[in-house]
Amino acid sequence: MFVVLLGPPGAGKGTQAQRLTTSTGLLHLSTGDMFRENVREGTELGTLAKSYMDRGELVPDEVTIKMLLERITRPDAAEGAMFDGFPRNVVQAAALDEALQGRGDSIDHALLIAVPDEELVARLGGRWLCRVCGAVYHELNDPPSRPGACDTCDGELYQRDDDRPDVVRTRLEKMKPPADLIDHYRDADVLREIDGERDLDSVTADLLEALR
Ligand code: AMP
Repeated sequence: MFVVLLGPPGAGKGTQAQRLTTSTGLLHLSTGDMFRENVREGTELGTLAKSYMDRGELVPDEVTIKMLLERITRPDAAEGAMFDGFPRNVVQAAALDEALQGRGDSIDHALLIAVPDEELVARLGGRWLCRVCGAVYHELNDPPSRPGACDTCDGELYQRDDDRPDVVRTRLEKMKPPADLIDHYRDADVLREIDGERDLDSVTADLLEALR
């Protein structure tokens, strides 16, 4: 079984991927993890990937596709895999389709963890830091007792530039699955949209149900 997991940053895709691997035994293939491993090991690929990752941009298709297609020729991916962070666009999706077709396989499920933009902006952009002691708060998950003031030292709370809602919105537009990629899997009749605006367990249960 070959599964594609789709979702914008902040949708909980990484967490859900881990939970699904535990429950299904499917091989988890994350291109982000592969790039980070290459960066750690200081490979040529890692150096190249890092220059894009640091800018929050996608690594070029040619490089990414080559790495992923090489990975799925290994024996542990013979029976299936769950792709996380790949494909990011239709060029990558078409390359994956073609490679799988060549061995008589295809994508069986594309699971989209859907979360409204406003909720994502709140999740990603809700972080506040204390100027004095560095304590971290989150508007939704861990708010201070009084808005704008640190519980520990009464210092002033501020937002990092890249956590501000307008910056988060721009990052989101760049990193969320593009509409034509979602259509690609809808047209292939393998797309299932899962409501990601709920607790982790409910989302996991729906994802597992969709794979059944
Ligand atoms: P992720 O862990 O999926 O958020 O990926 C971290 C970074 O790795 C991304 O911001 C990209 O720079 C790069 N990356 C991961 N997957 C891909 C992909 N399929 N295509 C291009 N770049 C990717």
